Amino acid sequence: MSVKLDITPLKDWGFDFDGPLIIAGPCSAESREQVLDTARGVAKSGAHILRAGIWKPRTRPNCFEGMGEEGLKWLLEAREETGMPIAVETANPEHVEICLKHNVDLIWVGARTTVNPFAVQALADALKGSDVPVLVKNPINPDAELWIGALERINKAGVTKLGAIHRGFSSAKATEFRNAPNWRIFIEIRRRCEGMPIICDPSHLCGKRELIPGVAQKALDLLFDGLMIESHINPDVALSDSKQQFTPDDLAKVIAGLEPRNPAVADQEFIHSIEKERIRLGEIDDQIVDLLDERMNLARRIGELKRTRGLALLQPDQWKKTAEKRVEEAEKRGMDAHFMLRVFQYIHEESLRQQENVIAGED
Ligand code: PEP
Ligand code: MN
Repeated sequence: MSVKLDITPLKDWGFDFDGPLIIAGPCSAESREQVLDTARGVAKSGAHILRAGIWKPRTRPNCFEGMGEEGLKWLLEAREETGMPIAVETANPEHVEICLKHNVDLIWVGARTTVNPFAVQALADALKGSDVPVLVKNPINPDAELWIGALERINKAGVTKLGAIHRGFSSAKATEFRNAPNWRIFIEIRRRCEGMPIICDPSHLCGKRELIPGVAQKALDLLFDGLMIESHINPDVALSDSKQQFTPDDLAKVIAGLEPRNPAVADQEFIHSIEKERIRLGEIDDQIVDLLDERMNLARRIGELKRTRGLALLQPDQWKKTAEKRVEEAEKRGMDAHFMLRVFQYIHEESLRQQENVIAGED
């Protein structure tokens, strides 16, 4: 089901860029020198918009909570000097009001705000009647509906220069990333919010510098519309997120190393050869659906047998054997073990649901 949003295409937001839109700058504005020195470097790095947090939503109250309006003065100075548009995070109506007063060029909603529909609605109300572009970060938890809900609230307030930022999701499972990528949520948002720009923030996703270039490239491979990357003139002494910020020089290298991908090509012969393979893919997908149908029929028959003897719905040993065998086979064939486990978890879950209906006598 697609979501009805009224979106202005990114190319018409008034920013000067060609290819992926790159937003870069410090996690936080800390001092006048830090902002201006960083901005001068970022302006030469290939980035298009200068970002900095001036109100920092922090997990614990004793961390650096931002410089507030004073920080904005330094950003305005940086805009004046470098000509770069500026972007700031807003978390409440007062922040929005201050940003609108100073013609901040873009605002974003942080992950800790997107989780709260009351806070998002208050922001949406404050944005009514303004033309400022707004990017909404994904909520901390992997919930596509909550993210879409926030986008809808802001769009309903009349904000059509609207986009999303994927910054990864909090996860109970330990991964190499600070926030798990969960690319399928991005793919789902892309499918449902047609025409809406989506930017990737590899800095908050990765949490450490060395992982950022790879994830930034992956984002371009997945056709994200742009990137938000943190950069600080002296990352080691940054007051927030020091491990994930690049010096402007390193940022320039990261940007120069990126290869943009084409959404489509004009070469007819090439398109034809891909189309041929796609037809075959479609046939395989048809077979997968047929096989699943057959498998579910079988599962229902087993459900009937279970019903005759009052046998429990879940047979843990049987499920354990199935999962282990399929995971082992996936690995042998060069497929990700976790991927295969997920596939069979879904299949098993649906089999159980079908059997449950049979056992309850509804089928
Ligand atoms: C940020 O961009 O500095 C920030 C706080 O990010 P997030 O909301 O993604 O944690
Ligand atoms: Mn940060």
